[in-house]
Amino acid sequence: MVKIYIDPGHGGTDPGATGNGLLEKNVNLNLALRLRDILLNDYQGVEVRMSRTTDVTRTLAQRTNDANSWSADYYISIHCNAFNGTTRGYEDFIHSSLSPTSVTAQRRDIMHQEITRVNGLVNRGKKSANFHVLRETNMSAILTENGFIDNAQDAALMKSSDWLHAVAKGHADGVARIFNLTPVSRVFRVIVDGVQIGAFQEPQNISNAVLQALPTAGSIVIERT
Ligand SMILES: [Zn+2]
Repeated sequence: MVKIYIDPGHGGTDPGATGNGLLEKNVNLNLALRLRDILLNDYQGVEVRMSRTTDVTRTLAQRTNDANSWSADYYISIHCNAFNGTTRGYEDFIHSSLSPTSVTAQRRDIMHQEITRVNGLVNRGKKSANFHVLRETNMSAILTENGFIDNAQDAALMKSSDWLHAVAKGHADGVARIFNLTPVSRVFRVIVDGVQIGAFQEPQNISNAVLQALPTAGSIVIERT
């Protein structure tokens, strides 16, 4: 099992950055919960733990201690930026002590590629910093800054569920590539009296095949491929 630790930044008494009627803590949590759901629903062999799943206060040490004691394989801290209202875009961070050829840097390259492929934001590049969550984690760690909440254009995206889904999916695609995760099959075989009559992805098609066989079948088996 690959163990992914997802850390929605801020929460509870700490709203993080604010702007355009949004609180960073809520955007971070929304993205993080979507990322968790995509990983758990779409892939096999992955476990997820989160620093918070609701609007509660967690110290930075609580977050990194929790990930360390769980022995996570990868730590993903999700944030949004703020600056002067006109600055826009996406950037991500690894710890400043790491070389560009380190495992963590190589993983970040993949995350960066997958996230910027879909997020529609200005790309501000790959950065490094001495942030607590990057320094105090025993495993590879990345911190993503998904747009500027005090910029009207970026904030408009943060209010779109399509955009939130796309950004979460970009993170999930990166994790799947890094850890070579196997997608969950969505295709089901329909077997009537021991003979496969079809394989279908759409629930309606599965249902039609079953209804057609039902009047005469001795047994109908629906089996995930
Ligand atoms: Zn933040």
